[in-house]
Amino acid sequence: MNTDEIGVLADNYCMNVYGKRTTSIVRGEGLHVWDADGRQYLDFFAGIAVANLGHCHPKVTEAICNQAKTLVHTSNLYLIEPQVKLAEILAKNSFADKWFFCNSGAEANEGAIKLARRYWHAKGESKPVIVTAHKSFHGRTMTTISASGQPKLHDGFDPLMQGFKYADFNSIDALDEAITPDVGAILLEPVQGEGGLGTPDETYLKAVRELCDRKQILMILDEIQTGIGRTGKLFAYEHADITPDIITLAKGMGNGVPIGAMGCTDEIATGFAVGSHGSTFGGNPLCAAAAFATVSTVLEEKLVANAAEMGEYLNLELQQLKQKHSCITEIRGKGLMTGLAVTCPAMDVVVALREKGILIGPAGPNVIRFLPPLTIRKQDVDTVIEALDASFGAL
Ligand code: PLP
Repeated sequence: MNTDEIGVLADNYCMNVYGKRTTSIVRGEGLHVWDADGRQYLDFFAGIAVANLGHCHPKVTEAICNQAKTLVHTSNLYLIEPQVKLAEILAKNSFADKWFFCNSGAEANEGAIKLARRYWHAKGESKPVIVTAHKSFHGRTMTTISASGQPKLHDGFDPLMQGFKYADFNSIDALDEAITPDVGAILLEPVQGEGGLGTPDETYLKAVRELCDRKQILMILDEIQTGIGRTGKLFAYEHADITPDIITLAKGMGNGVPIGAMGCTDEIATGFAVGSHGSTFGGNPLCAAAAFATVSTVLEEKLVANAAEMGEYLNLELQQLKQKHSCITEIRGKGLMTGLAVTCPAMDVVVALREKGILIGPAGPNVIRFLPPLTIRKQDVDTVIEALDASFGAL
């Protein structure tokens, strides 16, 4: 089918929640994808921070194919070898001793919220309220839109779920003020992905950790977008030299195969008892095998270091571009999670680059966002900078 034919079926049969889509990506290899009309693109968005190894990485493809030929699904009624191997590699490379697997980021956050509440409940304390940040994004389920500090996500969905409070991001005073005796946890993104690439001061996460310790509440980090190497560390909390109590992951963890995860310390894991939580598909053999291959490849191929190096290079090049184009007001983000605040509509730049064969995305009306695979090289950054230079000139 060509793009127009696919578009007609979408208009006729798919719910209109994504707006009009005019490009259909049908094939990918490494840093490149091709649309239904045969056009090639350099992918600097990786399916919203998902294809961290590039598209169809041979090791992930092999793991998926082998597992698909062996066993796709059994349910969590049985032990699942790829799932326990995935839990082990995550545990050995993070602070979190215990892991639970699900199918998406929103579900991982649902699990984290349930765990925080039940942990305090099991201790006989009534601390169900969770403080999150203004402009945060934690998912699209009823609970996770309620947790997200963005009114546009709440519009028309009242009544929202109870038990969430919002405080300004990057302000310890605001968090401190929000912590009343009924608060049991703080839930934050280390860098606010969907909210416009809000990047806190270097000292912020450490101060949040100290605040949580002082007030005896849990620190939950939503690393769904920042995790698995994206910011130049395997997990973004490492930049702050702290560890949270609970972490959530998804996106880059399966390189495109849907999987989410929630990890915590042994102590916090005592909050769940048998039957407290569960999932039919979560961590099933196929998804867990893909995620294990993804995480081991990120580690083996030293992609975290490459993300740090390429992130720095991209940042430097963008700084130079900012000198040239007054419509660029700010460069935000960390590693290969980079945003450019602009005075023009972000979508104009996204469309201009797509016409030049490069995929990027917006993060709100005036921020353009780069989330390339962690495998990019300097020449790929140069290609994007040249295209941006020409597009800003023309715009
Ligand atoms: N949390 C963060 C920080 C995200 O960026 C996202 C997705 O963009 C989510 C949660 C929700 O993940 P999912 O779309 O897999 O439910």
